[in-house]
Amino acid sequence: MNTANKPTQPAITITRFGTLPDGRAAHLHTLANSRGATVSITNFGGIITSIIVPDREGRLDDITLGFDKLENYLAPHPYFGAIIGRYGNRIAAGKFTLDGKLHTLATNSESGGFPCALHGGHTGFDKVLWTPTPLLAPAAAGLRLHYLSKDGDEAYPGNLDTTVTYWFNDNNELRIEYLATTDKPTPVNLTNHAYFNLAGEGSGTILDHLLTLNASRFTPTDKGMIPTGQIAPVAGTPFDFTTPRAIGERVDAPHEQIIFGGGYDHNFVLDRAAPGLAKAAEVYEPKTGRVMEIFTEEPGLQFYCGNFFDGTLTGKSNRPYPRRTGFALETQHFPDSPNHPEFPSTILRPGARYQTATVHRFSAR
Ligand code: BGC
Repeated sequence: MNTANKPTQPAITITRFGTLPDGRAAHLHTLANSRGATVSITNFGGIITSIIVPDREGRLDDITLGFDKLENYLAPHPYFGAIIGRYGNRIAAGKFTLDGKLHTLATNSESGGFPCALHGGHTGFDKVLWTPTPLLAPAAAGLRLHYLSKDGDEAYPGNLDTTVTYWFNDNNELRIEYLATTDKPTPVNLTNHAYFNLAGEGSGTILDHLLTLNASRFTPTDKGMIPTGQIAPVAGTPFDFTTPRAIGERVDAPHEQIIFGGGYDHNFVLDRAAPGLAKAAEVYEPKTGRVMEIFTEEPGLQFYCGNFFDGTLTGKSNRPYPRRTGFALETQHFPDSPNHPEFPSTILRPGARYQTATVHRFSAR
């Protein structure tokens, strides 16, 4: 584990991460806070490659899944740590109509046998090289990433000028700020797809983690994992995480929605009294005492518990990642919103700004 000398103030280290097939270099930016915790991010896909934070004894461990080599991120993987865009999660059949015009996207996934567009397409924001700018503030280190997604990129309309900024501060908070503008109306739904195992990546399943979600409703899906449009109460179902429950307790319950997802892979509708940053989730890992809290401005949260992991991928510490050894909590607008006028809109128009933030706070008790 990284036990680099504790800096007395936030610092950024930049190293070469590897070379893309087209010859361009990707770099790794390690943001260290003054408590000795670090977050490493490559400008390839804006991928968070490691998050090293203390447990209740002060022991540092890497709690996010991923690789230590660029070449592993160039090969297929389930979006470990990456920025997802232009549209996070699914768009049914890869089609949507905007201002009367039908747009047809690539269908790069086939959930339950039904083709859909997933996570931005074949070359989504997770697979492009972002332009990095290191940032330093009195109590935080940061990295600004910029990418211009051109008009027609993955068949989405409009030039989408996109900036994602990561900040890691002395309170062990990772803040992700998303900003975008466009010159034609387009759907936008950005997120980060980090997977967590608060006991340490590669240390086994996440089924003992206790999860609390500030969500009294969720969006049930059809067999193709596309929301039906219904907003259903979680009360009395395996989706009720309004009080802390072990992820594994009901993950195989004989509930139709659990069967469609092969476990949890659903969008939760966050309870919020007002717009702005609000607590969405808390996860507690009993052995290490690590806690992750998530605050977001987004209306939804995809909880996916690694049901499709099959152990064929081996992580950075040379340990494989079998089924359910990591979970993702992706802050987002609801899946397939462009086809659901009843959901909060994901359409960005020229002159408007897409601006949203999510904070992950790491602690231990
Ligand atoms: C989706 C899953 C998918 C995973 C990795 C999640 O956001 O909901 O169905 O398998 O991403 O692609």
